[in-house]
Amino acid sequence: MQLRLLSLLTLVTLTMPAATLQKSDFGKTPDGAAVAIYTLKNSKGMEAKIITWGGAIVSLKTPDRTGAMGDIVLGYDTLADYVAGKSYFGALIGRYGNRIAKGKFTLEGKSYSVPVNNGDNALHGGIRGFDKRVWTARELPGGDLELTYKSKDGEEGYPGNLTATVTYTLTDDNRLRIHYVAVTDKPTVLNLTNHSYFNLKGAGEGDILGELVMLNADQFLPVDAGLIPTGELRLVDGTPFDFRHARTPGERIAQTDEQLKLGKGYDHNWLLNRPDMNPGMLSLAARVEEPGVTGRVMEIYTDQPGIQFYTGNFLDGTDKGKGGKIYNQHAGFCFETQHYPDSPNQPKFPSTELKPGQKYDTITEWRFSAK
Ligand code: BGC
Repeated sequence: MQLRLLSLLTLVTLTMPAATLQKSDFGKTPDGAAVAIYTLKNSKGMEAKIITWGGAIVSLKTPDRTGAMGDIVLGYDTLADYVAGKSYFGALIGRYGNRIAKGKFTLEGKSYSVPVNNGDNALHGGIRGFDKRVWTARELPGGDLELTYKSKDGEEGYPGNLTATVTYTLTDDNRLRIHYVAVTDKPTVLNLTNHSYFNLKGAGEGDILGELVMLNADQFLPVDAGLIPTGELRLVDGTPFDFRHARTPGERIAQTDEQLKLGKGYDHNWLLNRPDMNPGMLSLAARVEEPGVTGRVMEIYTDQPGIQFYTGNFLDGTDKGKGGKIYNQHAGFCFETQHYPDSPNQPKFPSTELKPGQKYDTITEWRFSAK
């Protein structure tokens, strides 16, 4: 009897919704496809809004130190702006997050060419990457949102019919978990991430230069003029890239440094220190704190080997954001957990190849609190 009660309780706890999920319309794409917006809300009032266009997080409300909720991600008000947008606000990135040199790589003896859309290089999956596709949504028990996109063999030059499934989970302890799963029917390369721009003061509330950033990394990847890693793994020690103890990006971003000049600020991949290299084991990658009025804190946990820390260097005020706010340079920063850029051409980097029969399976979790 007691045992039965216990298992009933376990069942109730397991099936208890962590979040409520609500669906509304978000308009139609230029070719007539309906786009939905889902609102995930937990019992603490934290809320994430996600659209099926690009699987983008369009709003993320987290508490400040007084408990007041504020939206901390950059984005647009309308679908038309997301369709036209070039900054990847909040979007899922695929097939390949960040750059592939000259848009060329060789896989299992075959050469592939993918569209070059960033100087001489391919960026974020091509002209029409996963950020510019409508994902199919499924509401899971427990209030999770599952998004699936089926990418055809040859789409944007990449081999294999690939099915990508991303599940967003909002927990009652203010965590937003992103679970990426993918399978393919031909060898391919894959590097999925989420491209949210954060400002813990609130989206559109000035720049992020004074927010404290800790990156759990002893090494980073220097880049060339096209922002392709040179192949060198450089120790952060004694450089403006040392964020092992919390520092603001503003403190050193304007220093005379060849790498900061090439990136127009921070736009590099750090090699995460991972005590446990087992896939599926999350470890702390980064911590961000807004030391001013809000005290908001975000911790990023992942099982990925790298993180692209990008300080919104190319934002230039042309993006009219939510509520008509203008996003100038450094209005937000991105923490893209991922494999290293240009891995398909860099044999010394961990492999990004996905073969038939293998399962791409990775988790990144953002944990929110306030101090
Ligand atoms: C890249 C930047 C790029 C930005 C696009 C980042 O992931 O590293 O170089 O400009 O995405 O929004």
